[in-house]
Amino acid sequence: MTRTPGFETLQIHAGAKPDPATGARQVPIYQTTAYVFRDADHAAKLFNLEEVGYIYSRLTNPTVSALAERITALEGGVGGICCSSGHAAQIMALFPLMGPGTNVVASNRLYGGTITQLSQTIKRFGWSAKFVDFDDPAAMEAAVDDNTRAFFCESIANPAGYLIDIAAAAKVADKVGLPLIVDNTSATPYLCNPIQHGATLVVHSTTKYLTGNGTVTGGAVIDSGKFDWGKSGKFPSLAAPEPAYHGLNFYEALGGMAFTFHSIAVGLRDLGMTMNPQAAHYTLMGIETLSLRMERHVENARKVATWLEADPRIEKVTYGGLESAPCFERTKTIYTKGAGALFTFAVKGGYAACVKLVESLELFSHVANLGDTRSLIIHPASTTHRQLSEAQQVAAGAAPNMVRVSIGIETAVDIIADLDQALSKATA
Ligand SMILES: *Cc1c(COP(=O)(O)O)cnc(C)c1O
Repeated sequence: MTRTPGFETLQIHAGAKPDPATGARQVPIYQTTAYVFRDADHAAKLFNLEEVGYIYSRLTNPTVSALAERITALEGGVGGICCSSGHAAQIMALFPLMGPGTNVVASNRLYGGTITQLSQTIKRFGWSAKFVDFDDPAAMEAAVDDNTRAFFCESIANPAGYLIDIAAAAKVADKVGLPLIVDNTSATPYLCNPIQHGATLVVHSTTKYLTGNGTVTGGAVIDSGKFDWGKSGKFPSLAAPEPAYHGLNFYEALGGMAFTFHSIAVGLRDLGMTMNPQAAHYTLMGIETLSLRMERHVENARKVATWLEADPRIEKVTYGGLESAPCFERTKTIYTKGAGALFTFAVKGGYAACVKLVESLELFSHVANLGDTRSLIIHPASTTHRQLSEAQQVAAGAAPNMVRVSIGIETAVDIIADLDQALSKATA
């Protein structure tokens, strides 16, 4: 092809070619742990990163590599890796950048599990996080100290579906010379390409829209290839001799591919948070229809949010695609294909009415997931955001009177009818 392929072409073809051994048109599930070396010289070249190939499936596997290549193409990156879950991807993204005593400046609007991972669990590695409002560039900059190694935010942020101004966040990151990591799970590369707006790294929970039907967990980290890891001296794992890989300076040897190769040769090798080829297969299948599903997700979400906003039983709807949303302007610059299908709404009657609503729905599933073909609902204050204080819950957009919905691709009037009957019971 001489023209640059479009998104719909890439979501089907990127990373996949007919299998050289059999001609199989679909990407085979390479269910193998190891790969035979041609000879001792071939093995040596692979271990020295002088030749790219397969050694052992903890590092790379052809099915998983096809998926990594496809997501990289859709995000407009130079390289990427897949791993076992979205949470694994977040650790894999931070791992080459961080060391004991370093910190990350993170948005206070995040998936509940990510807030716990960053505020508590990473302390065990000697890392820490500071949470700030990414709508406030001055606060972002003020939070940076000599030990800060990255900024972290979500594009369409959990749980309220708030649209983050990635370009503004990237401007702050550029000014202080640090990488910006964007979790693009809820937007998907169809609705937003963070790299286009200045992000350094993009992480995904492929568990959600990329797979699309709630079958397997997975994650991905995609590198823009644009960050200069050598300039500040703050990233010795990437831009100084790496003792964990016989003293190789990855940035000197591999330039824009340094992050990706380090993630495979050190990160996956030693942390082992690898995606398995079965999971990669399900996700490859899902991605083939990503654009079609996201269009319908957005269309349905807009209809449901508009209906809810006009309903007297509802106090407030947070959907970024509604003109009343404070972040609505960003649908004109960054989220031009839509504001996603994840949002919250506040029910009159508070905590008790929310619980009753969740229990009265018939079409919606009450699950801790998002980005499924099915419509999903959860009450964050009693589940995903339960471990946070009430102040943290409110700051994260998960107040006790809020429910979060992930609008599926069922018939829109069926989704609305289900909410209607359940709201009648919840607010009776
Ligand atoms: C689900 C999710 C995660 C965690 O991903 P897992 O695949 O469940 O580990 C991280 N970030 C966001 C935005 C998510 O929705």
